[in-house]
Amino acid sequence: MNQPPKKILILDNGGTVSMKRICGSLSPVDGKEDILKLIYQIKSPVEIDYLKVNSIDSTNLSPPVMKLIYDAIVKNYSIYHGFVVLTGTDTLAHVASFLSFWLLEIHSPVIITGSQKPLNELGSDAPGNIYYSILFARENIPGVSVFFWQKLYIGNRVTKVDSRGFDAFDSPKHPPAGHVDAFNLRIHTGLEHYLRPQKKENFTFAWSPHVAVVKLYPGFNPELLKILPQMGYRGLIIEAFGLGNLPNEGEYSLEETVKEMVDKGIVIGVCSQCLKGAVQVEYETARRFEDLKVIFLRDITPEAAYAKLSYLLGISENMEWIRIKLSESIAGEMSIWDE
Ligand code: ASP
Repeated sequence: MNQPPKKILILDNGGTVSMKRICGSLSPVDGKEDILKLIYQIKSPVEIDYLKVNSIDSTNLSPPVMKLIYDAIVKNYSIYHGFVVLTGTDTLAHVASFLSFWLLEIHSPVIITGSQKPLNELGSDAPGNIYYSILFARENIPGVSVFFWQKLYIGNRVTKVDSRGFDAFDSPKHPPAGHVDAFNLRIHTGLEHYLRPQKKENFTFAWSPHVAVVKLYPGFNPELLKILPQMGYRGLIIEAFGLGNLPNEGEYSLEETVKEMVDKGIVIGVCSQCLKGAVQVEYETARRFEDLKVIFLRDITPEAAYAKLSYLLGISENMEWIRIKLSESIAGEMSIWDE
């Protein structure tokens, strides 16, 4: 007996994919017609519906605005096999990271994509990105993934690495989850841990506006951080040097300021500025901060670190619990290995 076609919902959040050039600059428009034209050409055994969620340059997205995507998925979760989210590339890695925590353990495939060139322009990367995202959304690959320029990635592992090239995304700290070529759609093996959640899904929209992200540079003035507790901030992600090293000597030492912040109950996580590798306490410049209860976030991306701490502070006030959860991988955002 023939199986009924799988139902896929396309959630259009805007971005370049549906933009048009107006007076020389790319601006968000309702690109619904072009997207529908493309979808109607897809004749594979799949039933596709389209829902406009937003028309926005993703530079203007904030977590409460991203919630529109979350709401649409939760509302339609029981009706569709999978979801394809179209969004702008500028904050696509943030959208993927937030959704991976809000939709923890989701069983449906949620494939996020966008394009570097608008769909209505010749030579656009949008048709391929949308088409293959739909094909991956038909598969049984639960969780939030990103498809871009022939590759499928774990959603909370990606980062935008090219502002102009079609190959705009990468997950340099984690192998891709799949790829396409002229003949096949391939889901890589060995990633079942990330792609097949075992537990029941656990959907919660939560975020705290009181999380900051700072990137260290030589001469970073620790006084800059002192404003955070005064403004009610409860979380800080520091993009530190190399293996997670922070200045602990001289005029620009962060040690005293970090100690004061931790004593005030602020949760501080450290990730690396490096595209590859992980943070690991090997040097005195990291050890001193580990002793101050700063949490070293292994190979997490800054985007996922921000989303995770914001999510945790949004659901709980229990700082000890937040510290424990921050140091564990809860949505496949960090690799697990024995120290
Ligand atoms: N500024 C655009 C956006 O993020 C860039 C893009 O979509 O590629 O919406």
